[in-house]
Amino acid sequence: MISFSSVRYSPTQNPVASATSTATRTFLIPYHYHTRKLSFTSPPFFHPADLPRRLNRLRVQAIDAAQPYDYEAQLVNRFAQSTKLKISIIGFGNFGQFLAKAFIRQGHTVFAHSRSDYSSIAQSLGAAFFFDTHDLCEQHPDVILLCTSIISTESVLKSLPIQRLRRNTLFVDVLSVKEFPKNIFLQYLPSHFDILCSHPMFGPESGKNGWQNLAFVFDKVRIGNEESRLRRAETFLDIFKNEGCRMVEMTCAEHDKYAAGSQFITHTMGRILEKLQLQSTPVNTKGYETLLNLVENTASDSFDLYYGLFMYNKNAMEQLERLDLAFESLKKELFGHLHEVLRKQLFGKSEESPKLVLSKLPKKLPKNGTSLLPASTSETETVVNNNN
Ligand code: NAP
Repeated sequence: MISFSSVRYSPTQNPVASATSTATRTFLIPYHYHTRKLSFTSPPFFHPADLPRRLNRLRVQAIDAAQPYDYEAQLVNRFAQSTKLKISIIGFGNFGQFLAKAFIRQGHTVFAHSRSDYSSIAQSLGAAFFFDTHDLCEQHPDVILLCTSIISTESVLKSLPIQRLRRNTLFVDVLSVKEFPKNIFLQYLPSHFDILCSHPMFGPESGKNGWQNLAFVFDKVRIGNEESRLRRAETFLDIFKNEGCRMVEMTCAEHDKYAAGSQFITHTMGRILEKLQLQSTPVNTKGYETLLNLVENTASDSFDLYYGLFMYNKNAMEQLERLDLAFESLKKELFGHLHEVLRKQLFGKSEESPKLVLSKLPKKLPKNGTSLLPASTSETETVVNNNN
């Protein structure tokens, strides 16, 4: 129970007297150096002298006492246990904004920073934009998410004032190559920071109708053993799980091998077709529509991204060469068939394969000066076979 006689109360700051309706209201009344949260149902106007009687009608919602000495620590713990994260997105371009929408939709707090000014876009999405990374880091986010172009990531990471972050902050990247960010994280981040490398295998175009069944690759490169750190990483992964992504855990090296043979090839084909300037026609087949879509998908990604796929994945060059070889071999196959057809057209049935011609040769070599071919063999055939 509380002692109402000890309530310190000034008529000029009388919250009760300022009440204007009979609805249930909640006020904070200063009491010694603490505050009490009281709510009551009461007619709006009365004299302060009437307060003790009226206080009997107050319903006490909370009884305070001196705050426990570890009050702040408890608050921190409570926040850590909460399922919502404070996520700082570094690189708030095309993909950063796309991810931010999902984070915010799921109730997480998003801070953004980028080289360019995206403050109004951030505001419209419900994120806070920071021009200065010092200010951003002083917000002590749970997660720093690197979403910069592959080729700028190293310089951006080096420029972050990581000394302003809480120790053990979780660093995540979403780069389309994986061994490279893993290596620079391990190189530049002190061992007390956690590291999660990830790659959502979709973008603003391919994921515009939802992320259901789209692959999300991740590698828990370094996550501390503490319960809160393990949970934080899981909470981050849950964002993608909740959206229906197909969660694929694999090493960064495995990712790069698979991605070079699939994603890099896809982007390369898209860019080759883009150079052909394909146009929609009145007789589009489904296959052709797929190609047009591929061009549209890849054209919406920056060249920096494509160049990054090539430069920072050691398997990409091999794939480019394989593509070259495959194209050459396909051309050879085509031209080989074409050659066959042309020969048939030129020489008709009269042409026989050299093997057949050989089988018709006499068993014994004829004398010098006489033809090797059977008597029926035409002059033309002789020329053709000689040309072989
Ligand atoms: P991007 O061209 O790869 O990257 C653009 C982002 O990088 C922008 O935020 C841009 O900042 C920043 N940036 C570029 N050069 C910079 C520099 N010199 N210094 C500082 N920041 C720089 O396009 P993106 O599509 O937004 O991709 C971002 C990341 O997500 C990439 O690593 C990409 O591999 C990955 N990713 C993309 C997709 C996708 O479909 N787009 C899918 C999965 C993963 P400003 O805009 O402020 O200039």
